[in-house]
Amino acid sequence: MAASSINPYRALPSTDRLLRHPEVAFWEQDVGAALLTTWVREVLAQARASIAQGDEVPSREELAARVGRRVETHLLLRLQGVINATGVILHTNLGRAPLGRAARRALDAIASGYANVEYDLARGRRGPRNPGLMALLRAATGAESGLVVNNNAAAMLLILRALAARRRVLIARTQLIEIGGGFRIPSILRQSGARLVEVGTTNKVHLRDYEDALASQPIGLVLWVHRSNFRIVGFHEEPRLAQLTELARAHGIPVVADVGSGALLDTTRYGLPPEPTVQQALQAGADLVAFSGDKLLGGPQAGLVVGRQAWIQRLVRHPLMRALRVGKLTLAALEATLLAYVRGQAETEIPVWAMLAASRKTLRARARAWQQAVGQGQVIEAESTIGGGSLPTATLPTTAWVLRPRRPHEVARALRTRRPRPVVARVAQNRVWLDPRTVLPEHDAEVAQAVAEALSSHA
Ligand SMILES: *Cc1c(COP(=O)(O)O)cnc(C)c1O
Repeated sequence: MAASSINPYRALPSTDRLLRHPEVAFWEQDVGAALLTTWVREVLAQARASIAQGDEVPSREELAARVGRRVETHLLLRLQGVINATGVILHTNLGRAPLGRAARRALDAIASGYANVEYDLARGRRGPRNPGLMALLRAATGAESGLVVNNNAAAMLLILRALAARRRVLIARTQLIEIGGGFRIPSILRQSGARLVEVGTTNKVHLRDYEDALASQPIGLVLWVHRSNFRIVGFHEEPRLAQLTELARAHGIPVVADVGSGALLDTTRYGLPPEPTVQQALQAGADLVAFSGDKLLGGPQAGLVVGRQAWIQRLVRHPLMRALRVGKLTLAALEATLLAYVRGQAETEIPVWAMLAASRKTLRARARAWQQAVGQGQVIEAESTIGGGSLPTATLPTTAWVLRPRRPHEVARALRTRRPRPVVARVAQNRVWLDPRTVLPEHDAEVAQAVAEALSSHA
């Protein structure tokens, strides 16, 4: 390579100089000087490396644009609010249940100061953790007692560890399921040190199978698990929970029910198949019932256990409880969520239930309004799904706004990468689908604007 008389690196701006370029300085508000400096240095180092390979010296504008791309990549990775236009109500990748207004207000009030997390205000000294929540949990479910941990997986781990470590746990072969995200019933049993005893066959389990297992060996606990995201059709049978609890009680053995979604209301009111409710499991005689806080309960991520006081006390006193307990923000949002049920206002206060209850007529009007505002696409009858492992085969009739741009994937990408609030839509049959059911009404105007912009840049 011929030696140049001028050092080409000298043509590159200094770090400080590039940081002061208006297209770079623009980002300082969003990401701070430290991160921006790192990216400026990286861009300059790369430019020097490519100059060493014989490439031309990039212009300052080009260097600033490279920094800008790094910033934008980073901003997309940051946790941010998104608009869910997929129609999947409990979208696990989008954070499951959105919180209602009361829960958001409670979060703000508790997050911004001190709170009586475990302080007895009447006595002026240390008190039990969240006794108020306990009262609400009892009122909402009818249980004797309850507790809260980080999620339902943690609740199951705690129950099995505290009540069945080194003991045998009976479970039907029809219930040895995997929930998304690596939660498998056999693995959680192994983790807790319990021994799995399977009864029945993959499709059929009789009460007799349980009876035989109980008669032939010492059993610590009977586990009943709701299949949640999985259905068995055809030649299938298994005993009802109430039959199982009666049998187990005769043997003096506790029954734990993992009902999954934590529905406190009857899903059949919305034309959906029945999802087992927490109250039903308690009425059927389960000693403990475990469920998630952020599925059909419609609250924050949490795992709740309700049931008999004596068993709950054993769980509360177990050392693992300290490792699995939730913080004050979760407690705040959960209290507000449960209060909505206790006051009989869940359908209006809790977004998940408001979404389930939304009529096709209302949804059609909203989809039409989008279409008319932008003057593009069609309004088509479609189906929303529930998600979150609840009611896997069920759908709700909806009306979607459907667009047919030349490049649907690019339009969907533009919607996802917009600022400040990404819009997540569905692409199917070469079209972009937006379902108003999962879009909060206060975001309706923003969706129309976002789509108009995405279409105009990817016509
Ligand atoms: C979803 C689910 C779980 C896991 O709950 P997380 O709160 O996500 O930990 C466990 N069991 C059943 C039956 C479920 O449906």
